[in-house]
Amino acid sequence: MEEIKLQTTTVKVLQGDITKIASDVIVNAANTSLLGGGGVDGAIHRAGGKQILEECRKIRDQQGGCQVGEAVVTTAGNLPASFVIHTVGPVWNGGKSGEEPKLTNCYVNTLNLACKNHARSIAFPNISTGIYRFPKALAANIALEAVSNFIRSHHESSLEQILFVCFDEENYRIYRDRLREYVI
Ligand code: ADP
Repeated sequence: MEEIKLQTTTVKVLQGDITKIASDVIVNAANTSLLGGGGVDGAIHRAGGKQILEECRKIRDQQGGCQVGEAVVTTAGNLPASFVIHTVGPVWNGGKSGEEPKLTNCYVNTLNLACKNHARSIAFPNISTGIYRFPKALAANIALEAVSNFIRSHHESSLEQILFVCFDEENYRIYRDRLREYVI
């Protein structure tokens, strides 16, 4: 585990399964349908139980799913977290389809929604770096930049701890190394 302090917020990187993390919010790398999928999405729905899917269905009925870069909040069901924020990352398509700003939007919109719900801690997976094939090092830079910009510009933010939960060794190494050299 690696951690740094940015102003009053602790930013941590660890390797593990996000469904086991007892932070106020865990973030799901969902898809636009909000009806579940593979990867971390499947793991969250499996571990969290049917209540999460029921709320996702309601949101889908009300607003027709979730657009790329946007975020919605549901219960965390049986998970140790209090809420799940579902955000939809961009599919990597060579980098010329606005993938980078879309991934930034995922982090910013999720952080804003977490603060609106008075969350003190949040755990992110490495959005888009699985089935959606976003290059991992680039995704890590975008994630850390979005988080540090958010901390800098939200002095009154409720967030005391931001966790990056890396499932695979490659992402863990990338985040750990990047965080070590990170200077705000
Ligand atoms: P996307 O479609 O956004 O690429 P994936 O779920 O395929 O979403 O992958 C996103 C990241 O989540 C990948 O880095 C993958 O290794 C990771 N991941 C898969 N399962 C888990 C889990 N249980 N906890 C945390 N991260 C996970």
